Formats: sequence, structure tokens, C-alpha cells
Amino acid sequence: DLIFEDHRVAPYCGRCGTALSDAEVSQGYQQVDDPSVYVRFPLVDGPLAETGASLVVWTTTPWTLPSNTACAVGTDVVYQLVRTSGFGRTDELLVLAADRRVDVLGEDAEVVRELTGAELIGARYTPPFALVDLPAASGAHRVLAAGFVTTSDGSGIVHLAPAFGAEDMEVGRAEGLPVVNPVDATGRFTTGPWQGVFVKDADPDIIRTLAADGRLLASRTYTHTYPFCWRCQRPLIYWAKPSWYIRTTAKRDQLLANNAGIDWHPEHIRDGRFGRWLENNVDWALSRDRYWGTPLPFWRCTDCDHVEVVASRAELGAKAGRDLTELDPHRPYVDEVTLPCPSCGGEAHRVPEVADAWFDSGGMPFAQWGYPHQGHEEFARHYPADYICEAIDQTRGWFYTLLAEGTLLFDSASYRTCACLGHIVDEDGRKMSKSTGNVLDPWELIDRHGADALRWLMFAEGNPWVNRRVSHQLLEDVVRRFLLTLWNTHVFFATYAEIDGFSLASPAPPVAERPASDRWVLAELAHLVELVDRALDRYDVSSSTRALERFVDDLSNWYVRRNRRRFWKAAADDPADKAAAYHTLHTCLTTLAQLLAPYLPFLAERLWLDLVVSQHGDDAPVSVHLTDFPVAPDAWRDEALRAAMATARRVVELGRQARNDSAVKVRQPLARALVTVPESERAGLVALLPEVADELNVRAVELSDGTGELIERHLKPNFRALGPAFQQRAPHVARAIGAVSPATAGALADALAAEGTAPLRVDGDEVTLTPEMLTVVETSRTGWAVASDGGTSFALDTALTRDLEVEGAARELIRAVNDQRKAAGLALDDRIELIVAVSPPELDADLDAGGHYATIGREVLATHVQRAPVSDGTRVELGVLGSALLAIRS
Ligand SMILES: [Zn+2]
Ligand SMILES: [Zn+2]
Repeated sequence: DLIFEDHRVAPYCGRCGTALSDAEVSQGYQQVDDPSVYVRFPLVDGPLAETGASLVVWTTTPWTLPSNTACAVGTDVVYQLVRTSGFGRTDELLVLAADRRVDVLGEDAEVVRELTGAELIGARYTPPFALVDLPAASGAHRVLAAGFVTTSDGSGIVHLAPAFGAEDMEVGRAEGLPVVNPVDATGRFTTGPWQGVFVKDADPDIIRTLAADGRLLASRTYTHTYPFCWRCQRPLIYWAKPSWYIRTTAKRDQLLANNAGIDWHPEHIRDGRFGRWLENNVDWALSRDRYWGTPLPFWRCTDCDHVEVVASRAELGAKAGRDLTELDPHRPYVDEVTLPCPSCGGEAHRVPEVADAWFDSGGMPFAQWGYPHQGHEEFARHYPADYICEAIDQTRGWFYTLLAEGTLLFDSASYRTCACLGHIVDEDGRKMSKSTGNVLDPWELIDRHGADALRWLMFAEGNPWVNRRVSHQLLEDVVRRFLLTLWNTHVFFATYAEIDGFSLASPAPPVAERPASDRWVLAELAHLVELVDRALDRYDVSSSTRALERFVDDLSNWYVRRNRRRFWKAAADDPADKAAAYHTLHTCLTTLAQLLAPYLPFLAERLWLDLVVSQHGDDAPVSVHLTDFPVAPDAWRDEALRAAMATARRVVELGRQARNDSAVKVRQPLARALVTVPESERAGLVALLPEVADELNVRAVELSDGTGELIERHLKPNFRALGPAFQQRAPHVARAIGAVSPATAGALADALAAEGTAPLRVDGDEVTLTPEMLTVVETSRTGWAVASDGGTSFALDTALTRDLEVEGAARELIRAVNDQRKAAGLALDDRIELIVAVSPPELDADLDAGGHYATIGREVLATHVQRAPVSDGTRVELGVLGSALLAIRS
């Protein structure tokens, strides 16, 4: 009952003998001039028939007129009965839509009366041709109502030929009209004077015949786009051929109910694009006229039309009365099998059609196991699927066929969760196409940037359902911004682990005993593991990738950068601290490898092999893809520390801003800074102040109750607001505003902010100021650089002492020597001898007295620092204090 045969109107090429899909049709539109004819359809009954009136019917396909079965009007459209002598007859009466009268008949036609579409319904008319005889009882050749009638062109009365229009077929089916189809599969007439002529070639002669019969009112030319066959460039026609259908409309409610239970990403697909498609469900046109495909298992009796449906090769063999277990069930072999008709004893042959390939796609969940012939257990275990994913256009394709077949066969959706992907577009968001020349070859992208880079771009550029821009530039950005940052962090670890002979077998200090920065990065890692896990549970790829990128950036540009010297320094200095650093960074990198494995399978595997397999050998899983998703131990968690470090880093940002504003070089140490943070953040920040001080190269950073006393406020008059308010007194008020001293300006600005007004004495009178009358300008008190944001501020004491300047000079020397080491191509652990000559002698003496030469020696891995004249050295400027000549020897 759910399978039936009916006519299906589809775009069709008579030369190729095949229907075309929507996608094929869209490739072949051309602009053409077609005939546009207005034809008289004389009424034969109803109130207007007695007056001798004719309907005015318009068409651009005259060849469909011999197949006319009805005319459609709009019930809401206003029609007119008009009298005209302009078309070869005197005082002829015509009916058409009021909106179309002037366009079709000109200004001269006289309106006799107006009528509604409803008044016309049921009226019968004489069709223009009698090519095909229709019994009187067929209900054909009458006026009926249709929703698609408009008055934007034509006459407002639409000729229906159900065999040649999908909408016509739909109305015809609802009204029980016959399908008149005098056109064969080559697109030629099968009967009448045009027998054997391709239908569109018959148009001119059909128009001549209409004129000769007095039916033609007007013939014009109509320019429009018309579909052509992409294979042979011939015009397509819309043509009805018998087809097999699945009656999906009978299950519409179940389809909607099952759709309601699917977890859609994005969610709006459920009730939007997909839900609307289901609500407007039409029966599934199942058959295709192809050679390749799944043959429809229907055998029809040539004598009595009885149809046998066969469910298996065994059943076919039983019915055919021979062993068919070795039969190839495809064409041509299956077509050779005939069955005796159980109804009349005649011979039944397989119908020639094959199934729509989409039907196969929808059968995947059970067909892959051979169910129901076999695979019952596998099917039960895997149905319905947890998750499917395809591009958004599959709402009419695979998403639908899976749901439809699941609903028809098992009354359930065959998938629980569905993610709809957007499309891949070029850099500017345009569709990639050969004609535009913006197509990128994926293999070339992969060869040049790596498969992982392409994968990350797909994951990280917003939600999966948003179109993906892909370009070489975007991939280069991914590599530079993310992959190389991660890789360089790994290289840093590997390099120093190698130099130090670090072994994972060495005892790892308990997390609680490690320095704050180690505990912090592990707390961030724990947070990351949870966040990625939770996000992936929700199919939320983009927030997981954002979190991973942020962590890699934190790890590289904060943790590693800030803790570099812990890896450099000699192990003998503090072995526990060094072990803590190595173990912490190793944990971060291996956990990252596990987190990133689904996203970056190659890079993650490389990290795993280098960091784990090479260290543990046979004891470790041989691949990161064989490990479980990581779970963060409780020992890593420390929300208070995460919050405190966030505060510290916010303060550092302000500190950098203040340093920038003050134009004191970053390498120049400063004596002190004052920090103000919201009350709730003070306690956490205290322990991290040394970190802030070190990062900003300030000897001491102190918490302060407020940096207000370090800021001066001045008032600037705003003439544009003062003029209208004070007229001729405005200049006096402006002068008074400018004269407010910094000591009282602050109070006045605060009052304005709090009350909205503030009083000011001007020439002995008191006037009232409002905020728009002045601008408050903040400047730092001399000697301080201040930056603030919300409740947080940072004030840097920029005063320099001799002591600070000498230390700054030492920093300059360290930087210069390290540059020389790099230029000389020395390895990170190569020792050198340093010869340095600083002038003037007072600076040399101060550097020595401050112990700076010892520090310099340590920092540049010098076994010996020799203060001696340098003949052929490099000159280094040491600010205002002096200069140096230096040379290194490896
Ligand atoms: Zn063709
Ligand atoms: Zn039969």
C-alpha cells in the first residue's frame, strides 16, 4: 500500500531519453525568446456562456495546448468581463484578470462588469484542440481554483496540462483530472497532425492552426530563461512518465515526531530547514530510468498487470521455479528472470526501472549488515546511529532518506545526533568554481601546509555549520599561529631535556611542592581537559579549539617564557626545582598530545612518540590513538591560583602599557611600582607579586589602596556646550573652568559624575555646570607612569638612580653577549670565555662593585670573565653611562 505507480512530471530531454535532476537542470539555463500566445477558450455553460464570452488563456508552450484538461483561476483574483473590437471581431466579450486587462487588450477595452474568481469556478469551455478524446464524465475542460495563480504576467487564467507541469499534475491529481499525454519518450507527438514532430518544433504550426481556427487572440514574443540539456544543448520539456512512488505522505506525522527527537546541530535545522521540508512532504518518487542501479524487485504480468514484489534471491528462485542462488541481481541478468503470474498464469517480467540511488543511501543502517536476511545482532547493536554528519544540503538528501526509511521500516529515526556542515568557500567567501578559477586542490593544500593544518582550519574557524573559508594564507596563519607555537614548545623541551640528560624516570616532585607557575599551568591544563571533554560531548568543536589554542599560547608565551631559566640553570643549583619544571612541561605536552589526537592526528602522534614512547619504550601505548582521553587528577586543580594568575597577568598588561608610555626601556630595571586591584583579588595577588615584578623588570611591586594620588586631573572647557548655556558670559565661565586647580578639579569631576551637576563660582556668582560643558584630562604626576582599567591600576616610579642605571648597563651587556653567541653559531650549552673593556672606569668599577660581572658570567655561560683591553671587539652602547668593547672565545 505504501508503493504505488503514478505519473511523475520531471525536466526531461527527449534526445537523451532521460529525466534530469534539479542539479543537472541548474547547469543549463539559457535566455531565449519563446512564443507568448493569448488564446480564446469559449465558455459553454455557466452565466457568462449565454453572452458568448471566451476566457483569455496565456501560454509560452503552445505545444501543451492539445493536452489541456482544465483552466485555473485564483479565488482572490478580481476578474473582468470586457467588451472589445480590437482583435478581429466586433464587440467580442472576453474574461481575464482586471490587473492584466490593459497589458493584454490595451486601453480601449470596455469593462462590462467585474467578477470574482469564485464565480468562474465550475464553468466549462471548449478546448482549443480535440486531439485526444476525453469522455464527458472525465470532469475535464472546466475552470477550477489553484493557489499558484498570480497576475504578474499572462491573463490571470492558467491553462493546465498535467502531463507537462508539476504544479498542473498536483492540481490535476487533487481534482481527479485525466492525464493527457500525446508525447512519447523522444519528445515527439504520438498523434494528430504533428505526429513525429519534436514538440517545441511544432509551436509555429500550432500557432498558425489556432489563428486559422479563430482561437488566437494575440501572439507575441517572450524573453525568459529556459532550461536546456547540459549534455546535448537541446531544450528540456517537462514531461510526465509513469513512475513508482513511496507514499511517505501517509507517514508525515511519524516523520515529524521522529525528527523532533533528533539532536540537531545547529538546532534550528530541526524545525527550520528540515522540519519545513517534512511538513511539506510529497511522496517519494522512487524509480529511475537508468541501467546502473538497484533494480526494482517488481515483476508485472504482461497479460493482467498483476505486480509481484520479491524480497530475496531465494524467494525469486522459488517463484521462478529454479535455483537462482548464484544470480547476479543486477541488470541485465535479473531482467532475464520471468515469473508465472499467480493471478492469471501469464508471464511476469521485471519492470525496467531501478531505484533512486538515494534510496540506497537511506538503507545504509540495515543494508550494510545484510539485514533482514542476516546480521540481526549487528543491526540491533548499531541501530540507531549515535551520530551522523554531512553538509547542510543533505536535508533533502541523506538526512531525509535515512529518516524516511528508518520511519517506514522501524518507526524510528536511524540517527540520534546530526551535525550539518557548511560549505567550503574561497578566501572572500565565494563559492569555488572552475569558471571563477578559485578552486583549490586539496592535495596541493595538504602537500604544502600539512593535513593537520587543513584539519585545524576546518575545526577552528567557527562553528562547523558556518561556511569555511580556505586559502593558502589562512593555512599559513594556522601553521604560524598555532602549530609552530606548539611544535617550538616541544622543541624547547626536547632540546633542554637532551642537554640535561633529563629522564622521565627521575622522581617528579609532588604537585603541591612545585613552584606557583608549575601549579598554575597544571591547573590551567586540568581546566582545559574538562572544557574540551565537555565541549566535545556537546559536539561543540569551536569552543574546544579556542580553548586549546589559548592554552598552547599560555604555555608557550607565558609558562615557558617565564620559566626558561629554570631549564637553563645548572642542575646542581636546585635539582628539585629543575625536575619540577621538566615534569610539569612534559605533563602539559603529553596531555596536549592526547587532547589534540582527534584534531591533529599526525602532530599528536609525533609528540607522543618523542615524549612517551622514546622514554618508556615498550611500557607505553605505542600510539597516542590507543590511549584513553585524558582525565585531570585532582592534584592539578587550583581555581584560586588560576584566578590569581589571571589578575597578575592583567596587572602585567597594565604595567607594559605604563612602561610604554614612560619610554623607559624594558631592559632598564626600575625601583618600584604600586598596584591597585579590586578587594576580592588582593589576597590571591600577593603571592604572585614577585612574578609581576620580575616580568616587568621592577625591583619591588607593592599593593596600594589606590593610585589616585598619583594622578592629576585638569578641566578643559567645552565651548560648544557653554555658548548656548551662558551666551555672552560663556568666555568668563570657560576661563573659570580652565583656572580650576588640580587640587579641586578632582572633587568637581567626581561631583559631576555622581550628581550630574556641580556648582562653580564665576566672577563672584555661582553657576551650575553639567558634564558636557567640560572635559576631564588625567595626567600622571611627574615621575610616575600610570595605566588603569576598571578597578585595576598600575603606577610605575620612573625615577632612575645610579644603581638602577648600572644594573641596566649590565642587562645590555648580557643581551649583547648572547647576540654574539647566536651569531657565532654556538650551541645552547657551549661555554665561552668573555673579554670585556667597559669605559669610563667609574662604570667598570660600579659594575664590579655591584657583583654584575659575576651575574653576566652566569647568564652567558662564561667560564671566565676577563676585564681587559679588547683590540678587535664589538662595541656596545650602555646608555648615558658609557660603552663597552667585548669579545668572546669558545
Ligand atoms: Zn539531451
Ligand atoms: Zn497475470
